[in-house]
This record gives sequence, structure tokens and C-alpha cells, in this order.
Amino acid sequence: MERIVVVTGASRGIGREVVRQFAAAGDTVLQTARGATPAEAGAVLMRLDVADPASIAAFAEEVGGRYARVDVLVNNAAIHWDTWERASTADLTVVREALETNLLGAWGLTLALLPALRKSRHGRIVNVSSEGGSLASMGGGTPAYSVSKAGLNALTLMLADELRSDRILVNSICPGWVDTDMGGPGGRPVAEGAAGILWAANLPDGGPTGGFFRDGRRLPW
Ligand code: NDP
Repeated sequence: MERIVVVTGASRGIGREVVRQFAAAGDTVLQTARGATPAEAGAVLMRLDVADPASIAAFAEEVGGRYARVDVLVNNAAIHWDTWERASTADLTVVREALETNLLGAWGLTLALLPALRKSRHGRIVNVSSEGGSLASMGGGTPAYSVSKAGLNALTLMLADELRSDRILVNSICPGWVDTDMGGPGGRPVAEGAAGILWAANLPDGGPTGGFFRDGRRLPW
């Protein structure tokens, strides 16, 4: 069955490739971006700034009016891989910005789309996280990014538990080191990073929920 898929941060990088892969599979993909960007073939381009609650509200209203449901939400948009910072000397303005987009953006959009996700019979929420947010291997450095992704992982666990009765599967996915503006040169191709995200979106009913995965394999929290 054709699904209705929402992808955030889809102007470039992994998000854009995720849109391309869903569209190629025949799904209706809402490619969202905060600024002007070319539409991916077969995708529906829509404006969404996840750090702006008014933008989230307007987007959710438009989606609710145009589509019967949302089957898949990919919370991909993120900022501030702050390799220049340390927790012990951090600029909290940068930390706040990271939390606004990477954690609260994903959280706020999820809340706004929950009525539409509940109308799906196979709802999936994919939080694009990072092993940088893993407490099991947490060390110094990249404080804004790492704390925001650790928070996103906590949100994954809570939502998975609370939405189990709605049969909505919620998982955190690390795409691995990917060659994008954020990841920088040397990482793997976007197609490989995106594939792990589609894996989580394509999980069968009764599949894992409340997990942290890369390439379909579990990562330690
Ligand atoms: P990029 O920096 O290449 O792209 C980030 C995307 O997020 C852009 O489309 C950007 O839009 C969008 N974005 C940023 N802020 C907002 C906002 N407020 N509202 C809407 N969109 C926004 O990153 P990647 O593609 O590399 O990363 C995608 C995801 O993968 C992120 O969650 C990242 O943390 C994660 N990840 C990436 C890794 C890597 O090696 N690349 C490793 C581990 C995790 P705009 O063009 O307008 O700036």
C-alpha cells in the first residue's frame, strides 16, 4: 500500500536522499525544507522549519487538510556538530540552538502529527540520531550535538512505550558517518546512510520499537 511519508531537513544531505528512496519506492513523500530548495522527483515539496512552532503548526494543519493520514515520520533535521566545543567551556547559545532543532523540533513535530499518525494502521516514527548521543560511549566534546541526540534517544524510548498501544513503532537510527555538509568528506555515500533509515520505516507490524540501530543492527544506548 502506498504510504504517506514526512521527511524533515530534506533540502540536502541524508534527508534529501531519504526522500529520493521513498519516492522511488512509490510512496507519497512530503519533502520538507525550511528554505527554498528544488523538489526531488516524485516528491511533494512543503515548507517546514522545525525550530519554529508556528511553522510546525501551519505544516500540521496543511497536512491534516490534504492527507487522510501520515504513515511515516522521519525526524532528520539537525544542526551543530560542534567539534569546536567542549562541555566545560561550551557556548550555551549553541547548545540551546541544537536542542531547539535536534530535540524540541523533532518532539514538537511529532506531537503535531500524532493525530495523523494515529490514523495510520502501520505508523512509524524514525528519529535520526547519532552514536554521538550514546551514553554508553559518551566522552568529552561536541556537547551541543551529543546532548541533543542523547535527549532524542530518551524521547524515542518514551514515545515507543507510550505509542505501543497505537501500534506506532518508534526507533532511533544512526546513519553512520556519511559524506554530507555535516559529516564532511570521507564518510560513506548518502545512499548507505539513508538505507538504515528506510529499514526502520519499513519494519513489519510487531517489529522492534524503542531501539537504537545502525544498518539494522542494535547500538548500545
Ligand atoms: P546536513 O547538515 O547535510 O543537512 C541538515 C539538514 O537539516 C538540511 O536539510 C538543513 O536545512 C536541515 N535543517 C537544519 N535545521 C533545520 C530546521 N530548523 N528546520 C528544518 N530543516 C532544518 O546533515 P546530514 O544530512 O549529514 O544529517 C542528517 C541527519 O543525520 C541529522 O540528524 C544528523 O545529526 C544525522 N547524522 C549525520 C551523520 C553524518 O555523518 N552526516 C552522522 C550521524 C548522524 P538547510 O539546508 O535549510 O540548512
